[in-house]
Amino acid sequence: MRRGVLPIVGSRIESVERPPCLRRPILMKPRIDAIDRRLQGKQITDIGRRGKRVMVGIEDGQVIVIEPRMTGLVLLADPPTTDHLRLRVTLSGGPSEQLLFWDRRGLGTVRLLRANEIATVVDARLGVDALQITADQLQTKLRASRRPIKVALLDQSAVAGIGNLYAAEILYLAGVDPRARCDRLTKPQWKRIQQATGEVLELAIQHEGSTLSDGTYRNALNDAGGYQNYHRVYDRAGKPCRRCDSGDIQRIVQGQRSTFFCPVCQRKSGLHPSVHA
Ligand SMILES: [Zn+2]
Repeated sequence: MRRGVLPIVGSRIESVERPPCLRRPILMKPRIDAIDRRLQGKQITDIGRRGKRVMVGIEDGQVIVIEPRMTGLVLLADPPTTDHLRLRVTLSGGPSEQLLFWDRRGLGTVRLLRANEIATVVDARLGVDALQITADQLQTKLRASRRPIKVALLDQSAVAGIGNLYAAEILYLAGVDPRARCDRLTKPQWKRIQQATGEVLELAIQHEGSTLSDGTYRNALNDAGGYQNYHRVYDRAGKPCRRCDSGDIQRIVQGQRSTFFCPVCQRKSGLHPSVHA
C-alpha cells in the first residue's frame, strides 16, 4: 500500500472531501471541513507506514493517518465501486489527480494529526514493527502471556503489522501450534517465529498482499495482489499439508478469527518435524 501511493510524494493538495456515501460514515478526525482547511495548498513530502497504517506526510509536519482495517483500500486509480468511497484528496503537480480511501465494511479510520500528536496517538499504541523486532524482543514482550500465540501475534501493541492470515502462515512456517500458550514457548520457538515473520511478510510485501476469494484487497492501482498464490495454510481447510503430506489442514476459530494449521507439522509439543528427524 505504501509503495503504491509513493508516486504522489511532491504533489500538492487542492482539496479534501468526503464523497456522498449512503453507508454508515467511517471514523474521521477532525471533521472533513477542518481536514480540508488544514491541508489545502500543502505539499505531500513522504509516505510512511506504522504497523498497518499508511502515513501521508505533509510539508508542515502534519500527517494523514489511514488505517484500512479489514476492507479499506488506499488508491490512486478509480475504486472498485463508487458506493464505498470514503475520502477523496484532489492533487496537482504529480502523476495522479487523486488519492482515495475506499472501504466496503467501513471499519477503517482516517485521522489528520499534527507532528506532536504522532507519538501519543500512533506510536504509543504500537509494539516494535514486525519487520524490525528481534527474537529476544518478541519473547520478552510475550513470554508472560497466557494467550495462545496466534492471538498474541495479532495484538498490535505487542508487535505491529501482523494481520490474521499472515499470523497463520507465520506459525505454519515456524512449526508452532497456534493454540500454544505464549508462556510455554521455548527460546528456539520464539526464534523460529521471528524468522518466519520476516520471511512471510517480506514475500507478501513483494507480491503486494493477498486478494482472497472475496476479491476485496486491491493495490493502489486497483489490481489484485499475488501473495494468495503462496499461501501454505490459509483458506486450505481439509486439503493435504504441503510439507508433511500426512496431515490435513484444519480450521479453528481463535479470538473470532479463522486460524488454519497442520496438526502434524505444528504439534503442541512444539518440536518442528525437522527437529524430530
Ligand atoms: Zn503438515
